[in-house]
This record gives sequence, C-alpha cells and structure tokens, in this order.
Amino acid sequence: MEILRTVEELRQWTRTQRCEGRDGIALVPTMGALHAGHASLIRAAAEVRPGHVAVSIFVNPTQFGPNEDFAKYPRTFAADCALAEREGATVIFAPSVEEMYPAGAATFVDVDGLSDRLDGASRPGHFRGVATVVAKLLNAAEPDLAFFGQKDAAQVAVLRRMVADLRLGAKIVVCPIVRESDGLALSSRNVYLSSAERKQALVLSRAIRRVESLVAGGERLSAVLMEAACSVFAEELEVRMDYIELVDWGTLWPVLSAAPGTLFAVAAWVGKTRLIDNTIIC
Ligand code: AMP
Repeated sequence: MEILRTVEELRQWTRTQRCEGRDGIALVPTMGALHAGHASLIRAAAEVRPGHVAVSIFVNPTQFGPNEDFAKYPRTFAADCALAEREGATVIFAPSVEEMYPAGAATFVDVDGLSDRLDGASRPGHFRGVATVVAKLLNAAEPDLAFFGQKDAAQVAVLRRMVADLRLGAKIVVCPIVRESDGLALSSRNVYLSSAERKQALVLSRAIRRVESLVAGGERLSAVLMEAACSVFAEELEVRMDYIELVDWGTLWPVLSAAPGTLFAVAAWVGKTRLIDNTIIC
C-alpha cells in the first residue's frame, strides 16, 4: 500500500488507474484515528472497487472552531495505515495542511441553507470546512464512488447537495453506523471519555432506541418523539443536550411528523466531549 503526500501524486495515481483501463476509484475521506466504523467504510469500498481504494487521512483545520479540539485530535498514523491496508485500501492520501491549503488560500465552499443546520448551528463554520476539504479531495481523486458514514448524517446531507450543485460526478455511498456492543456509536472522540463519562454517553443511543421503538409502535408526531427523547436525556443529568432534531434528510429542515427517510439526530456534551448519534426513520 502506497502513501501519497501531494495532490499531484493522487492525481497521477488516479490517471494511472484510468490508463490501465480499470473501473472507477473509490475514495474514503477520514481524519484518521481509525476505528471499526472507518474500517466498515474501507471494507465496503474494497468490495466494490477492489484494488482501487484511496483512503484520505487529514485532520482538516478549517472544520474546527477556534476553541475546538484540532490540536489534541487523536493522531495515530502508523496504526491507521495498518488498519486501512488490512481492510483493503490501495493507497493512503495523507497531505500536509499546506498541501491542502496553499499559502493565501481564499476559496471555500458554502452550502447555503444546510451549512448552518444541526451541527452547523452549534459549530459555526464546521460544514464550510467539511465541504471545502471534501470538494478538494473529490477534485483531486476524481472517484466515481465516495464513502461516508451515516454517523455524520447532517454532513452527508451537506455533501450530497454540494456534489449535486457542483456536478462533481462522484456517487455518495452511505454506510450504516457501527456501534459498540452496548450501543455507543464509535467515534474517534470516544477516547476522550473517562470511564464515568463512557457510561453517561450511552444516553445518546438510548434516546435513539426510544424513538425507534415509538416509531415501530406507530408514533409519528415530531412533538411526541422529541419529548420522549428529551425525557431520556433528563435521566442523565451530567450530560448537556446540544440538539434533538427531527428533520428532512435532504434539506435538514424540521418536520412535523416522521416519514420513511426522516432523520432523527441528537448531539450532546458529555463532559468536554461533544458526541452525535442518529437514526433514519424506516
Ligand atoms: P471522521 O474521521 O470522523 O471524519 O470520519 C470519517 C468517516 O467515517 C465519516 O464519513 C464518518 O461518518 C465515518 N464514521 C465515523 N464513525 C463511524 C461509525 N461509528 N460508523 C460508521 N461510519 C463512521
């Protein structure tokens, strides 16, 4: 497995694959600190594009706010490379910040109307950073498939809109949320949790399950579902809710009642760690 450091090397790799008459390329964008959730994306990509999977590892500074965890975000490059190779990655793209944002960089991608919803409301500028870096990655790698996790469902909505608007040509493939056996959604930030916080964090997946079971029982009203989720959060006083939202997954705007494909999403602070979770209503 090769490690590429520059956009030009990535472009060259893509061109070579094309010249050799192979199928399209699959791209799996990540910020590293890879876990079983990321592994599931790489595996899914390798299943459909064996031998043509690029995994990017880049802790993207523009998606972090000034007081967020950019500096302390876990960086585990050697272990990430081993995991990616095991799961079927063909190349790793691990550029420097200067490579992705050349001196004087002034071009950003704003997805109006979606960028300030859900996590974008709590983390101003976050989705602008995400959309910008993913646009750069898609532009450089020119994949026909790009793999993302449902774990970041609002991010998926923003990127689907961006890909459609900019006619980027990559199909976005969304993979299911991978969870610990007790329900906690895997996240690179889970390593920040103390053992007490690790238990408190289960309130997110409990709220999700409560809503899923109400929906399974026929409940559709947003007010009822949100209230039920709020009462689950009320059981865990140490956890500070950030948002609970029932929204259209395309527009990220609130809906009055849940329909198949509606996104139910939560975000909460467990100590100093912000966690997110969601479910798509069936
Ligand atoms: P990140 O490195 O956190 O930017 O995540 C890279 C990709 O992995 C994103 O598309 C995430 O949605 C996805 N991902 C993160 N955690 C999980 C998970 N628990 N299950 C499935 N996909 C995930």
